[in-house]
Amino acid sequence: MGFEHVVCNFCKSNDQWVLFNIHESPDERQPPAWRGSASIPVVRCKQCGLVFLNPRYDDARLTALYQDPQMFIGTIDPEGRSRSIAAERPQRVARFKGDVDSLRRMRSSGRLLDIGCGLGFFLQALGNDYDAIGLEWSHPVVEMMRDLPLRVVEERFPHHPFKAGEFDIVTMHNILDHLPNPLSALHAACDLLKPGGLLMLSLVNFDSIAAKVYGAGFRLLGPNHLYYFTPTTLRRYFDRTGFRLIKIEYPYFGTEFAKPIEHTQKILNDWWAMRVMGKNETRLSPPFYGNMMRVYASRKQ
Ligand SMILES: [Zn+2]
Repeated sequence: MGFEHVVCNFCKSNDQWVLFNIHESPDERQPPAWRGSASIPVVRCKQCGLVFLNPRYDDARLTALYQDPQMFIGTIDPEGRSRSIAAERPQRVARFKGDVDSLRRMRSSGRLLDIGCGLGFFLQALGNDYDAIGLEWSHPVVEMMRDLPLRVVEERFPHHPFKAGEFDIVTMHNILDHLPNPLSALHAACDLLKPGGLLMLSLVNFDSIAAKVYGAGFRLLGPNHLYYFTPTTLRRYFDRTGFRLIKIEYPYFGTEFAKPIEHTQKILNDWWAMRVMGKNETRLSPPFYGNMMRVYASRKQ
């Protein structure tokens, strides 16, 4: 219950390899919608190479997850620590500084839509240089932003109240890989942009060194990450949905997570233990260069 089988979102093939399984968190302290004991297969499409979860959470489970306020104030992270995303606002806003600086170099003003804006951390980090608005599906999250000077519309993308060609910039930070249908989402994002308009995506890179070394221990896997893109599969999506890829950045150096020497040493040690010595164990990957992609694409004219 709570799961559905799907065909490949990109090529509609029903033929997949299972790469490995990820596991729900059984921790009693997790919110009920986030707690479980299921193993979820991460599969790769034999036709086009897209990586996704299958079977995956169905719509009822996704709704339970994103409409539960506990998800944003009381979860347990991969290291077993209690976390409240809402209470981490100053740090979370600061964490977007690199993204905002990067965006400014691409486009320094304009009408901007942040799809899946969550608690508005990116909107807040943007400051006043953009005419920015957020779209968010989670009702409790929208309620939590009520007293902030942010403009947010409550709607589940790809549904929205905006006109075609209304925006100069559309951003999605850690959203595309959470959506059940990324193909329709990118089509809808393209429609919202003016010709030549800019799409900015932040998402997990399944082609990263850490993803390859750690497999099921890659720290950015999760039951609500329905898709795992690579630069190759993402480029194919752009070709089909009216976008031209401009560039991909890999934020790590200069971020609060960057400990390059320590992380390189850990990856080498773990690679030796898991792959060379063949110890049958899963280790948790550290943050590392290449784990995250910051992607820019423009709407074709
Ligand atoms: Zn496919």
